[in-house]
Amino acid sequence: MELVSNLYPVIPADRLDLELTYSKPKLSKTDVETIIQIWIDKKAQDWSSDISVSYMCSNLHLVLLPLWILSGDASASWSASIGQDYYELKSCYKCSGKGLVKQSENNPFGNSDIIERCHVCGGSGKEQVKKTRFVSQTGYVNAELNGRVVENLPSDVTPPRLKKRDLNAVEEKLDKPLAAQFYSLQPASVLSSDGRKKSEDILRETLTQNANDIARDMGPVRNLQIVNIQIQNLSARLWGYPLLVGSFTYKDEEQLAIEIDALTGEIYVDVPKSVKSSRLRTLLYKIVLLLIVVLVPIIVFYTIVKYY
Ligand SMILES: [Zn+2]
Repeated sequence: MELVSNLYPVIPADRLDLELTYSKPKLSKTDVETIIQIWIDKKAQDWSSDISVSYMCSNLHLVLLPLWILSGDASASWSASIGQDYYELKSCYKCSGKGLVKQSENNPFGNSDIIERCHVCGGSGKEQVKKTRFVSQTGYVNAELNGRVVENLPSDVTPPRLKKRDLNAVEEKLDKPLAAQFYSLQPASVLSSDGRKKSEDILRETLTQNANDIARDMGPVRNLQIVNIQIQNLSARLWGYPLLVGSFTYKDEEQLAIEIDALTGEIYVDVPKSVKSSRLRTLLYKIVLLLIVVLVPIIVFYTIVKYY
């Protein structure tokens, strides 16, 4: 395995023994420099002039981020117990089914009992009690994966911080001689069977979710089961998504990451600790200044008012 830096393990793209496409980067060198300069101007006013834009640029490498493009469809039957509400008539708790209640009343001539109609049951002597019974239900459910894009990276590697991708980017075939010119981030798997397994897992999960949604519309759900799963047209291929990645050192801090999406121009940079603390200092300074500007006139005003 060769390394762009410890942060981004890569392999030559021609070692990916898969049907592979890639998208050509859209950014020129000038675009990249401008993007970094804008980031510095906006995010890090106290940026050290030792760390120039061209130094940061020179540490950037074009790598392909391996993305699975997964397709397939599935169907299944589901069964579950669905709760249905019903009402049972019960003897009224207030009047014990008599429909009348006796009430004692204090008046100047002593206590007297009045017989009244029961307000709980309206005199019927019955009340309705809501109950739920679980009835078995069955149904049919579908799921479809139509080119779902999923990262193909090992779980122990920090994935790129940039998460928004241009999913409509034009793809081109990357054959072996062309692939030899590119590096790819080390993928979790280069077997298309692993990709198809991934499609299958997502489809199974989606079937369960969809069945749950259908069942839940009918009422409370118990014991949902998915049976007779049919999975067809599974496919998985790799798309090399172009990223510019690298690491740079800032004063004593090493291995700060920089990433630029080579299609959208989105940028991520690890902010050095010293820049972060200096930004915090600037912020505190501004707050203190604001307090002085606001508080001093108030104190002066009240002092004057007090003496007159
Ligand atoms: Zn009653």
